[in-house]
Amino acid sequence: MIIVKSKEEIELMRESALIVSKTLGEVAKALKPGVTTLQLDKIAEECIRDLDAIPGFLGLYDFPNTLCMSPNSQVVHGIPNDIPLKEGDIISIDCGAIKNGFYGDHAYTFPIGEIDEETKKLLEVTKESLYVGIKEFKIGNRVGDVGYAIQKYCEDHGYGVVRELVGHGLGRVMHEDPEMPNYGKRGRGKKFIEGMVVAIEPMINMGTQRIKQHKDGWTITTQDGKPSAHFEHDVAILDGKPEILSTFAYIYDALGINSNEEDAFRQKVLIL
Ligand code: MG
Ligand code: MG
Repeated sequence: MIIVKSKEEIELMRESALIVSKTLGEVAKALKPGVTTLQLDKIAEECIRDLDAIPGFLGLYDFPNTLCMSPNSQVVHGIPNDIPLKEGDIISIDCGAIKNGFYGDHAYTFPIGEIDEETKKLLEVTKESLYVGIKEFKIGNRVGDVGYAIQKYCEDHGYGVVRELVGHGLGRVMHEDPEMPNYGKRGRGKKFIEGMVVAIEPMINMGTQRIKQHKDGWTITTQDGKPSAHFEHDVAILDGKPEILSTFAYIYDALGINSNEEDAFRQKVLIL
């Protein structure tokens, strides 16, 4: 059952999403070759607690940390450890926080120093596919329209779209209805309704779509060992249109990147 949120609740959810956004920004400041994912995890936990919120992943389904840290061929759900990141790595960082009883949950894949062109392209296309998907999250569409758009965009670039892991409704519970796959058929699945909030999160592999699970019960990697990218935003339907509650702006500030992608997206939404 889809749990619809009031406008007031959506503003509270924006607050939760922005706590995650700020936390990812703080983590981004510390990203460099030599830093360990466990050190970054500590930074994130402190930041969330300083913002008077609760780490959303810590203890959720018994997950041991604040961040999911998935380098290189890891898709998602990697556990922070004391292995230093090195130049040329990529790291997918997924973060959750609870504030006022609502979850924020979003993710970004970062390059560590200079990365090769092929991997750069994977990150670029995966992030673009996130906005391509979000654009379809509006009244009149269904779950399959978002999935179809993301799948088509990524497969047209020759990438593998992970099937076993999906986006989800978000609220007082981390995983609410509906499931939001990154693949699908146009016009199929549950209808979108005013006030619903979801996490849209393409998980895209450079090679095969196939994945495997590690013995730790958490870490998911690509079967062929090629890199995988993951970008996630929290999005509400407000006045029939997609409203992104999270932001990558803190990350871009931290990294000195000049990006107008979120403004450009809002301009596109105006004419939806
Ligand atoms: Mg997430
Ligand atoms: Mg999520």
